[in-house]
Amino acid sequence: EMKAGGPSTRVVEGSEHGFATTRVDALLNWAKKYSLFQYPFVTACCGMEYMAMASPRFDMARFGAEVPRFSPRQADLLWVVGTISQRQAPALRRIYEQMADPKWVLAFGTCASCGGFYDNYTTVAGIDKVIPCDVYVPGCPPRPEAVLDGLMLLQDKIARGDRTPAIVKPREDPA
Ligand code: SF4
Repeated sequence: EMKAGGPSTRVVEGSEHGFATTRVDALLNWAKKYSLFQYPFVTACCGMEYMAMASPRFDMARFGAEVPRFSPRQADLLWVVGTISQRQAPALRRIYEQMADPKWVLAFGTCASCGGFYDNYTTVAGIDKVIPCDVYVPGCPPRPEAVLDGLMLLQDKIARGDRTPAIVKPREDPA
């Protein structure tokens, strides 16, 4: 039996009566959100936090997104991790174009989101100057929990078929 969500994301109807009905697009979106193959495009210090997030402690397998693919042709989720220089921008664009549709992009950290504190002519002021971006995760670097919030936000958007860009809100500081 598949899990049923809220009214807008409900996948299965009537499973409690021994039968199930669903819409094909809802079923496909449900499958897509739990089978993301990520391509990590890592350029700078945010990579340290990416390695932390990819460790068993944060268990990305819970979200079906733990397997990195180092060929863009085999990936549908592009993580852009770190600062993008003007010289790297054409390579990033080419990587994005090599990915097959449907594909999604997550900006990992402030530099990828908006250029960070690099207010100069060598740095791209956010990856959306080069490629479309679905989710922005601010932070310098972002904590792994914030990136997981971004991943869950993306999953919700995939389930709804929503391609509107979104920003992860910071969690409250427990201290
Ligand atoms: Fe480095 Fe901060 Fe930029 Fe991440 S956001 S790449 S940690 S300077």
